[in-house]
Amino acid sequence: MKMLTEMKVSDHKKIIEVGDVKIGGEDLVIMAGPCAVESREQLLAAADHVAKEGGQILRGGAFKPRTSPYSFQGLGEEGLKYLAEARDRTGLKVVTELLDSDDLELVNSYADILQIGSRNMQNYGLLKKLGKLDTPVMLKRGYAATIREWLMAAEYVISHGNDNIILCERGIRTFETATRNTLDLNAIALIKDELNIPVIIDPSHGTGQRNLVSPMAKAGISAGADGVIIEMHPNPQEALCDGQQSLTPDDFSQLVVDLNRVAQAVDKSLAI
Ligand code: PEP
Ligand code: MN
Repeated sequence: MKMLTEMKVSDHKKIIEVGDVKIGGEDLVIMAGPCAVESREQLLAAADHVAKEGGQILRGGAFKPRTSPYSFQGLGEEGLKYLAEARDRTGLKVVTELLDSDDLELVNSYADILQIGSRNMQNYGLLKKLGKLDTPVMLKRGYAATIREWLMAAEYVISHGNDNIILCERGIRTFETATRNTLDLNAIALIKDELNIPVIIDPSHGTGQRNLVSPMAKAGISAGADGVIIEMHPNPQEALCDGQQSLTPDDFSQLVVDLNRVAQAVDKSLAI
């Protein structure tokens, strides 16, 4: 029995186009880069490596949602400028978080995909504003949101006029404390079984540990995800945010090789 029939996303378009990158088709999409844009050098080094290994989309937060107000909050517009420079230099598309609707025009003028973070998933005012845009939106799952709540949040954007929606499973908070979050692979399988909407897996936030990122990325692709979003830092030891879950460039290179094999096993491919 279908559980998700009340959703308009059930007749959503299957493939979201971000320029020449298609998300939701046979080619898996690789999004990767640092948690936060920290400097021009850091971002360009990360971008060069992602492009060299066959990634399509560069991630990097310029506005960071941090638990502590005393932690690094991101470089703001300066960070967006480095992302644009990296895009010009590598041809990668850019996904970056929109944290505050006050910055919507600014972030939208730089981003190819607007990332809505876990903490903003049910910010309905923001979701309605995103509905007025054409820019693709990647809606990350709220860490305490059910699948239905997550899909209803997507419906807010779609019903207000923007059907360029990509979902991102990034783990939920459960009674388990051994890992940062519990990556919900059921959500991937369920959504892909019942709806036409691309889903990306985020094993970096889903696990919180570098050594678990590759196994869970592979698991996500096996479960039907349309791509991955991976935190990778040129030097994770020095990262200002999420270093413990960031892959090194070498780890990332190996992950791409491994994902290529998993992709073939599920009749998909990597555009590498
Ligand atoms: C991120 O992708 O850097 C991030 C803050 O993710 P989330 O909103 O899933 O915590
Ligand atoms: Mn992060």
